[in-house]
Amino acid sequence: MAAKKLNLKDKYKLLTRDLDWEFSYEDRKEAFPYEEFEGIKITDWSKWEDPFRLTMDAYWKYQAEKEKKLYAIFDAFQQNNGHLNVSDPRYVNAVKLFLTGVSPLEYQAYQGFAHVGRQFGGVGARVACQMQSIDELRHVQTQVHAMSPYNKFFDGFHDWTHMHDRVWYLSVPKSFFDDARTGGPFEFLVAISFSFEYVLTNLLFVPFMSGAAHNGDLNTVTFGFSAQSDEARHMTLGLEVIKFLLEQHEDNVPIVQKWIDKWFWRGCRLLSLVGMMMDYMLPNKVMSWKEAWEVYFEEAGGALFKDLARYGIRMPKYADVVEKEKEHVSHQAWWTFYAYGHAAGFHTWIPTDKELDWLSEKYPETFDKYYRPRWELAKKLEAEGKRFYSQALPQLCTTCQVPMMFTDMENPGELSYRSTEYKGEKYHFCSDGCCDIFKDEPEKYVQSWLPVHQIFQGNCGGPDVPDILKDFYHFNLGADNLDMKGSPDEERWKQWKSA
Ligand code: FE
Ligand code: ZN
Repeated sequence: MAAKKLNLKDKYKLLTRDLDWEFSYEDRKEAFPYEEFEGIKITDWSKWEDPFRLTMDAYWKYQAEKEKKLYAIFDAFQQNNGHLNVSDPRYVNAVKLFLTGVSPLEYQAYQGFAHVGRQFGGVGARVACQMQSIDELRHVQTQVHAMSPYNKFFDGFHDWTHMHDRVWYLSVPKSFFDDARTGGPFEFLVAISFSFEYVLTNLLFVPFMSGAAHNGDLNTVTFGFSAQSDEARHMTLGLEVIKFLLEQHEDNVPIVQKWIDKWFWRGCRLLSLVGMMMDYMLPNKVMSWKEAWEVYFEEAGGALFKDLARYGIRMPKYADVVEKEKEHVSHQAWWTFYAYGHAAGFHTWIPTDKELDWLSEKYPETFDKYYRPRWELAKKLEAEGKRFYSQALPQLCTTCQVPMMFTDMENPGELSYRSTEYKGEKYHFCSDGCCDIFKDEPEKYVQSWLPVHQIFQGNCGGPDVPDILKDFYHFNLGADNLDMKGSPDEERWKQWKSA
């Protein structure tokens, strides 16, 4: 008997709606215990519009084709010593930061979507999450494969999963995803699918992929292209979940707004690392962080939130603060890494004179006033053989876990510092945004694993910092850390290029 041809939409219907069943002897509420505790009200799951419309057989076929092309490029990269084609060995440090800071988040996304994919009463949402979960597993695998060739030639790539769980600055991305995954299923989707993937993802992926392209890193560019079609589906899920929640019940609106405010702020704090990468770590620049923010948030996000206004959703709280901070955060972040370059798993450096001029040009309001003088001082000290490293451990924000390095936008010369008390203990924050998040769920954030606190409590080995870096973090001291200048990475590069 000839099989009846179904179109994709009908096939998808069979894959989703018709896979669900009525519960005859179990209580449906007990089968989906996480669906209500966040206060979200779902009245009719059948209103869910499937964002992916991709059947499993089509999915595997597309993905397999993409993988075949991707791995052919990886192969060519290895065969042709692709690592020699990067613009400048400093570039590779951006790759180290990506592998240790971002790739493990792809794995967290895989776990997170697999978990919430079990928790929704609506089968369409469950299938969408399961598919995204598989995408995320592919992302972590392809990223590791894209970056692994560098491990043969450069320091700092050897133990990235271990580092992600322990290293002080990597607790910033790690705690971001830990926070999302320990929220309820709807908060997870608003956090990751909407706030991060729909609103902010272009600020992570475009700079990294264009950065890779501008700096000769064929593997990372190709991975980026391969992930892009997945990203497009993920963004559709992000938008669908927001519209669905807002249309289901008016009581959902304030809850969703609170999550948007929270995850926009947490996302912006996380993106300080990307801003720093764009302005300081890419030898061939793509655009400044400030320009990226204007294009990908102020223009695109502005239009999005105008559209969401009809549901009663407004711009994320403190978007005005971030707009001012775009002039500052990348400089503050790289300066912090420069000052703690002995405790980082990648190399730091003083921008070249040409780069300092580029920064002055891109940040006419702030760079010469606040930041250039610091670099001129650092240059002078280095020339005198007095390169300094900060020896005191920095205080961390209890929410975002970034060291207290952000300044007050009312007075950009002064540190921004907030604190609150909870059950007789004092907690410290980098901003009103982070302080608000804590106050809303103090029982959650008092559990924050703050690397500096943990060091002082003796939970990271030690007592001396070099012991912690070596034994607890697994850094190879004198190779992974310190300045690019005089590093084994630089030494090898010179040898390859002179040969
Ligand atoms: Fe991903
Ligand atoms: Zn903070």
